[in-house]
Amino acid sequence: MSNSLPFNTSMIRGLFTPLSPEQEPDDTPGFWVVLQGSSLLLLAGAQEAQLPEGPLPTGVVPQAEPLRIGLWQGKPLRAVRIAPDATLPVEYEKLPFQGPDTQLDNTLATIAGRAAQILHWEHRSRFCSHCGGLLTRIPGGWGKRCRSCGDEHFPHIHPCIIVLVRRGTDLLLIRNAAWNPGRFSLVAGFLDFGESLEECVQREVREEAGIEVTNIRYVGSQCWPFPSQEMIGFLADYAGGEVRPDGVEVVEADWFPEDALPMSPGGKRSISRWILDTYGKSGDNR
Ligand SMILES: [Zn+2]
Repeated sequence: MSNSLPFNTSMIRGLFTPLSPEQEPDDTPGFWVVLQGSSLLLLAGAQEAQLPEGPLPTGVVPQAEPLRIGLWQGKPLRAVRIAPDATLPVEYEKLPFQGPDTQLDNTLATIAGRAAQILHWEHRSRFCSHCGGLLTRIPGGWGKRCRSCGDEHFPHIHPCIIVLVRRGTDLLLIRNAAWNPGRFSLVAGFLDFGESLEECVQREVREEAGIEVTNIRYVGSQCWPFPSQEMIGFLADYAGGEVRPDGVEVVEADWFPEDALPMSPGGKRSISRWILDTYGKSGDNR
C-alpha cells in the first residue's frame, strides 16, 4: 500500500493527531518541530532521534509565531522555522528531512515534512492574491478569508502524475536535464488545465519521451511536501512511437530491461522507488 510511504499520514498514525490551528487552548508545554532550511532540529546526544520538548532554548529565535499543528504523543506539537544561517544552541543538532540519503527515521521525516508544508502555506497566505487585503483564518481548517473582498483561499496542493511505462519486459526511464548523468527516473509532471489524470499521463509521456501509452491504471499516491505536491502514481503500457526525449527538460529517455535498471532512481522515500520496487519486476499481474 502506498499509504505506508513516508510523508503520508499513515506513517505517523498513533503518534500524531492533527488539529485545526485555532484549537490552541493554552500554553501547555509540548514538542517542537524546529526547521532550518530542509533540516529538522533534534536533541543533541540522544541515543534515539528526539524532538525537543518543553521551553525552547533562548538561542532559538523563530521567524514567526509558533503554530500548533496537532498533538505528538498526546502533547501539543508546535512548528517554527529559524533563519537558515542561525547558529544552533549546543542542545541541538540537525538532520535533513529531504533528500535520498537522510538518516532521519521515516516518522520524524514525515512530521517534519508536514510541518514544512503547513509553514509554507502559512507564509504564502498572508495576503489576498485577488485584492492584496489581509487574510484571516477560516475556523476548522487551514483555509483563509480576505478581510477586504471576502475571497476564500485554501491550501495549494499541486497534483503531479508519475508513471511507470512498460513494453514487454522493458521499462521506460528518463533523465531530467537537472540530474547527474547515470541517474534515471520515471516520467512525471504537473496536471494542466482541462486534464483528467489519465490525460496528464498521456501528455507527459508524449512530451518527455515521444511515445503513446494505453491501459493507464492508478497504483498509489504520496504527499511530497517539497514544497506542496501530491504525487499520483500510475502504470501504463506502451502503445506506439519511437522513444525520443524532448532535449530540453529531458535529455535522455530509453527502455531498460526490468532486471538491469540503471542507478536506482529517486530517493528511498519516494513513490518512484516504491513503484519500481513493487511493479518493476512483475508488473501488476501478480
Ligand atoms: Zn481580497
